[in-house]
Amino acid sequence: MSDTIEKVNCLIIGSGPAGYTAAIYASRANMHPVLYQGTQPGGQLTTTNDVENFPGYPDGITGPEMMIEFQNQAARFGTDIRDGWITKVDFSGKTHKVWVNETKEIHCKTVIISTGASAKYLGLDSEQKYLKLGGGVSACAVCDGFFYKNQEVVIVGAGDSAAEEAHYLSKLCSKVTMLVRRDEFRASKIMANRVKKTPNIEILFNTETEEVLGDGQVVTGVRAINNKTHETFEIPATGFFVAIGHKPNTDIFKEFLKLDETGYIKNIPGTSKTNIDGVFVSGDAADHVYRQAVTAAGTGCMAALDAERYLAAVESDFEVSTPTY
Ligand code: NDP
Repeated sequence: MSDTIEKVNCLIIGSGPAGYTAAIYASRANMHPVLYQGTQPGGQLTTTNDVENFPGYPDGITGPEMMIEFQNQAARFGTDIRDGWITKVDFSGKTHKVWVNETKEIHCKTVIISTGASAKYLGLDSEQKYLKLGGGVSACAVCDGFFYKNQEVVIVGAGDSAAEEAHYLSKLCSKVTMLVRRDEFRASKIMANRVKKTPNIEILFNTETEEVLGDGQVVTGVRAINNKTHETFEIPATGFFVAIGHKPNTDIFKEFLKLDETGYIKNIPGTSKTNIDGVFVSGDAADHVYRQAVTAAGTGCMAALDAERYLAAVESDFEVSTPTY
């Protein structure tokens, strides 16, 4: 089933810093962008308490407040911001087709993908409870480590991210306890060795998290279990960091776009271009390395500029049906 087909110049998928920055640039360039917010309007930052590392906010700002500011700025220049989730795409032809909530069909001259990535969590009820409360559970050491200065924290994971984040935390926190579920790291040798050599990081191998402990408001520790001896024990901590990987939100594009082995969209280096003309990518959907709001915003800007240049270069045989401003 499909409503009347709508035609747009520039469709932006996603409402994190990348999507809204693309929207600000695209609307100021008179590209009449339409932005679909997706299932988590505002993106990952809406699960972050205080953002203190985004330039221009000397006193910090909460993640949700910051995303409202991004949205307001995009709306101010005329971005058509809509609720809705893109459930299907077809990038096989010259006109890029997308479907909203399985039904509404849109034909787009350009598409900017800013669907982000989702941090993986263990899935424990206690972990989710303190995550939602903003009470000491985080999946981003660079974002939140500062709030645990001179405190004891626990980090779960054994890949390069966990190693990097544990090392980052060790410079801020008095002690970092790293829980590794197997008897070895997955991280590269150099990263694992750096962690092993850091005096205030204690690595507990064969150890899993049973429960995140707290006082109902904030985290106070972790109950862990040694999966060889089955011994359980408590580790005092005010912060619980989860670094067990991210999942890029790119499943609907995999039939058409080149992805790397973990699902991140491959962009042409130094640009936001994908392997399909007129389809651009920004933010964490293509970035497993930096994953910061400010880098996402930067690539959102790149995507809008690349899309604008693309639109200027292609012949206009396509009548846009949406601009109402
Ligand atoms: P990875 O998938 O590489 O590692 C995930 C880690 O989390 C593994 O050690 C895994 O354990 C552990 N894990 C998964 N589920 C659980 C669970 N339920 N309980 C406990 N532990 C769990 O993800 P990363 O984010 O670390 O890295 C992703 C990619 O990005 C990699 O290719 C990496 O090399 C790259 N990267 C590179 C960096 C750099 O070069 N500077 C920095 C960061 C990432 P197990 O090993 O037992 O499966």
